[in-house]
Amino acid sequence: MDCVFCKIVQGEIPAKLLGETELSIAFKDISPRQPVHILVVPKHHSRDVTELAATDPEALVDLVRLGTKLAGEYSAGSFRLTFNTGPEAGQSVFHAHGHITSTTPKLG
Ligand code: AMP
Ligand code: ZN
Repeated sequence: MDCVFCKIVQGEIPAKLLGETELSIAFKDISPRQPVHILVVPKHHSRDVTELAATDPEALVDLVRLGTKLAGEYSAGSFRLTFNTGPEAGQSVFHAHGHITSTTPKLG
């Protein structure tokens, strides 16, 4: 399947990895829109968060745990976790992913 995030999971495309579990990986967004902009991605392909929740809830919980852990490490404490779902909502990569964004990076 021609999927950019599957290729990152498989190490075929480089990414700035920030964390990993058995089920999820996290890496820096290639074009950050906030001072903190991290993507958290299930290792197994689902097209969006709706499909992920329906087919692999354990992977969704794991993704949220990894994302919120990294939010604690990279932000000062306030952050967003968003899932753009469907093209009209801005989804451009059809492999489920959460965006961790924050305007307030952790200092020092
Ligand atoms: P969305 O628009 O919600 O589907 O989010 C896709 C995100 O993936 C965008 O914020 C892109 O900047 C990001 N992105 C696309 N290709 C890459 C890549 N190769 N490495 C890291 N981030 C990427
Ligand atoms: Zn994929």
